[in-house]
Amino acid sequence: MSKISNLIFNGEKHYLTSSYGKRAQISTAAGKTSAFHYGTDYGTYAKKIMQYAIEDGTVLSCGVAADGAKYVWVVYPRIGKKFLHYHLDSVLVKTGQSVKKGTKIGKTGKTGKATGIHLHLGIKDLKTDKYEDPEVFSSKYTPPNEYSSGVYKVTADVLNVRRGAGTNYAVKKFSSFTANAKQQIKRLNSGKACNGYVKGVVCAVNKVSNSCWGKTPSGWVCLDYCVRV
Ligand SMILES: [Zn+2]
Repeated sequence: MSKISNLIFNGEKHYLTSSYGKRAQISTAAGKTSAFHYGTDYGTYAKKIMQYAIEDGTVLSCGVAADGAKYVWVVYPRIGKKFLHYHLDSVLVKTGQSVKKGTKIGKTGKTGKATGIHLHLGIKDLKTDKYEDPEVFSSKYTPPNEYSSGVYKVTADVLNVRRGAGTNYAVKKFSSFTANAKQQIKRLNSGKACNGYVKGVVCAVNKVSNSCWGKTPSGWVCLDYCVRV
């Protein structure tokens, strides 16, 4: 799971099934796959889960490829990339449409040369028009500073709560959380304590700093792993 794939699936469960680069050829019902993999595959546990736009952009094209795969290309000008969502079960956008973070792109599927339900994510640089490794790009990706105060819900399995707005600050322990946070964590975590907010915890953010860091009553959390509620 990467920062980008987490945004695309809005925190829904998925896992990396095939990395970018050279790979062994696999025979599928529709023929052999290519020896070089121009993207990253994410399995979604056989579920046709929704895929979303990650930030402001435009749908460059969408439709059905020659191999039968339903696809969408989304251009993201701020980061200078375009994303290919491939093997979709359904397409929910139109060519030329503007998108923003959270716009529904389509549902994950196995159209075209696919043995199971997954997203093939391709990322191309707009200047070079060459494919690059989505996982490498994801590790460098910084979202736009779009967060503001409000109420957020945690989408990560466990989200660290820190003493300050950055990963260089210490992680806080369960014992130092507010009574409200403790109560929510226990309720969502089969009665057990956890040194972090578990998935589903709802927290008030009264200050945003350092791009993605939100100040909650128990400490600072990275809002890339939360959704606004
Ligand atoms: Zn693939």
